[in-house]
Amino acid sequence: MTADDSLDHGSPMAPCVLSVDLDAIVANWRTLAARAAPAECAAVVKADGYGLGAVPVARALTRAGCRLFFVARLEEGIALRQALPAPDIAVLDGLLPRQSGAFIGYRLLPVLNDPGQVAGWFDRCAGSGVALPAILQLDSGMTRAGLTPAQALSLADTRAAPAFPWRAVISHLACADTPDHPRNEAQRAAFVALAAAFPQGPRSLAASSGIFLGNGYMMDLVRPGAALYGVNPTRAAVNPMQPVVRLHARLLQARCVDSAQAVGYGATATVPPGTKIATISIGYADGLPRASGGRGTMRLGNWNLPVIGRISMDLTTLDASAVPDADLQPGRWVEVLGAGRSLDDLAADSDTIGYEILTGIAPRVQRRHLGGEV
Ligand SMILES: *Cc1c(COP(=O)(O)O)cnc(C)c1O
Repeated sequence: MTADDSLDHGSPMAPCVLSVDLDAIVANWRTLAARAAPAECAAVVKADGYGLGAVPVARALTRAGCRLFFVARLEEGIALRQALPAPDIAVLDGLLPRQSGAFIGYRLLPVLNDPGQVAGWFDRCAGSGVALPAILQLDSGMTRAGLTPAQALSLADTRAAPAFPWRAVISHLACADTPDHPRNEAQRAAFVALAAAFPQGPRSLAASSGIFLGNGYMMDLVRPGAALYGVNPTRAAVNPMQPVVRLHARLLQARCVDSAQAVGYGATATVPPGTKIATISIGYADGLPRASGGRGTMRLGNWNLPVIGRISMDLTTLDASAVPDADLQPGRWVEVLGAGRSLDDLAADSDTIGYEILTGIAPRVQRRHLGGEV
């Protein structure tokens, strides 16, 4: 069976298919867990598993031994809990008014981000007579979420908070993707000092890139997201993670121009006579960034076809001059992301990061999950 046939299988209508290799996600989790050991390795599956499907991803990682998942929204946590009864699920957004019933009902852990949220949760615990599991977030210098140093110190002066059996005490690094940035060490030192006041909680600072900053950043728990999905967590040319996604669209039509022609919106690109233009079924409404117009290549068979002109809402045009006519049959699959163009390559061509590419792949792109039966 050719790669094209396997894509057709089960999706004869699909114009765009995102293939998600669950075995590669599991392998990436194991790589990160081994690197962080003896620290626990959680997994971040917010934004529907960075667009790849939180439920299949978390199910595969639960089988591999992951015991703690982070989502961003309460609704994401409820959906994940309905699929997976066992693992701990933490909600990064924290606890908003009138939500504690849902947290308790679905056994979700709030990440408590300010003194009011801590007080609200402690009230619920007092009402139930048990310390309901929760995570405390301290702001060590990113100024985004978590208790300020002053708030953390005053919470440390209470009786309940230092004695509380926190599932984790966490903070987040602003510059972990820049290993020699002085903020990394400054945040690490600030967090260690603040977290000492809550000795019951395993400490957690590192997300994907933080795991590559050195042993001092692993602490008791790490929280990778992007690296699980194949985004390069380092600045190194060679990505230590396995690729996870491939994205394919179909060739809709191909033509050879017999005179110089402008291609696409704005007539931004002009091609000489004899150029073959292939039009494929993907555009910015599918999550292919408009900023990537005129940049990079996509692959048909063994040919790399340059992107020509602007990306339209539903269509993209490629220079297929190198491809024999016999290989330009409508319906053939063109690889948009995969062996010929990595997620990080497309991100660079789009002036963004792999995170935004993944989470931007539209719902109308069919997801196809491979593997995962560990
Ligand atoms: C998103 C997020 C993570 C995961 O970050 P990656 O860079 O994707 O590994 C970890 N912790 C917090 C608080 C986050 O918001």
